[in-house]
Amino acid sequence: MSDKILLTAEHITKEFPASQGRTLTACNDINLNLYQGKTLGIVGESGSGKSTFVKMIVNILKPTQGRILYEGQDITKLKGEKLRQLRPKIQMVFQDTGTAFHPKMKVVDIVTEPLLNFGRIRRSEKAEKARELLRMVELPESYADRYPHSMSGGQRQRVGIARALALEPEIIVCDEATSALDVSVQDRIIELLVRLQREKGISFIFICHDVALVQSLAHQVAVMYLGNVVEVLPGNEVRTNAQHPYTKALLGAIFSTRMDFTKEIKSIESEAPSPLDVPEGCPFQNRCGQCMEICRQQRPQLMKIAEGHQVACHLFHGSGEICL
Ligand code: ADP
Ligand code: MG
Repeated sequence: MSDKILLTAEHITKEFPASQGRTLTACNDINLNLYQGKTLGIVGESGSGKSTFVKMIVNILKPTQGRILYEGQDITKLKGEKLRQLRPKIQMVFQDTGTAFHPKMKVVDIVTEPLLNFGRIRRSEKAEKARELLRMVELPESYADRYPHSMSGGQRQRVGIARALALEPEIIVCDEATSALDVSVQDRIIELLVRLQREKGISFIFICHDVALVQSLAHQVAVMYLGNVVEVLPGNEVRTNAQHPYTKALLGAIFSTRMDFTKEIKSIESEAPSPLDVPEGCPFQNRCGQCMEICRQQRPQLMKIAEGHQVACHLFHGSGEICL
């Protein structure tokens, strides 16, 4: 991808203290770029560190190690007013629309609250601004007077997107924002995001555990496993050119249920190890059909094997160059 890099995660590690003095590594040395006006998809099973990673991007959590550069500035070090000034630029849409909003707030107040907080509009301008935001997300203007509980999940998610759009951010992070919705409603929300990106040049980070869905809108897809990025590849190559055994396993398990009903459903056998108990060597070794001796000893580094394509797997050792 030759486009401009808007945000870079460099060697991002996040550790949480766990019981008995142990340490849980939720994210382990993550290096990723977000390109301007593009979508970075992040996939991986539950517990792979996706939410922890994006919470550091929106500055809800601080990394244990590493930097996040946004327009050349390390945003993990920002405090006070400088941090407050950054907030409008990076917004987040959450998964749980049932609890994300205050139940006593009407849609008009939900979508305009960030604008009032940042002094961007006067109270008298609220109703008009709310109508404009609702139009952007293709909801009837009359919904401004509704309460979130009287709306469907898909409609509430549109309200969440309208609220995220209010401050005209450069980056919107969607953490499983469509995962609770029916497939057809999901697809329409995706269409909305694609249109908003085309019209406003917004960059998205889109987290989802469904590879099929993510590859349909992401320019770049990062696959996470137990806190590690194991593969990064262009969205339009996911189906045809995924190389990491874990990505292939995810494809086998997910594409067959969502897209190709003629194929046998091959899910990944066995459970992922506990993140408190990640083995030495490759984190995927105990579930990998191609595990070699070296995989039990050395953690594979992310290697560039083609333009825009990186894999952390010993099968590719010697066929690429080490990234970062
Ligand atoms: P995902 O979003 O991919 O499901 P998470 O980032 O939520 O994964 O979690 C990654 C790992 O970090 C999990 O094992 C989770 O239990 C752990 N974790 C997340 N947040 C905390 C926290 N605040 N304290 C301790 N452990 C956490
Ligand atoms: Mg999560």
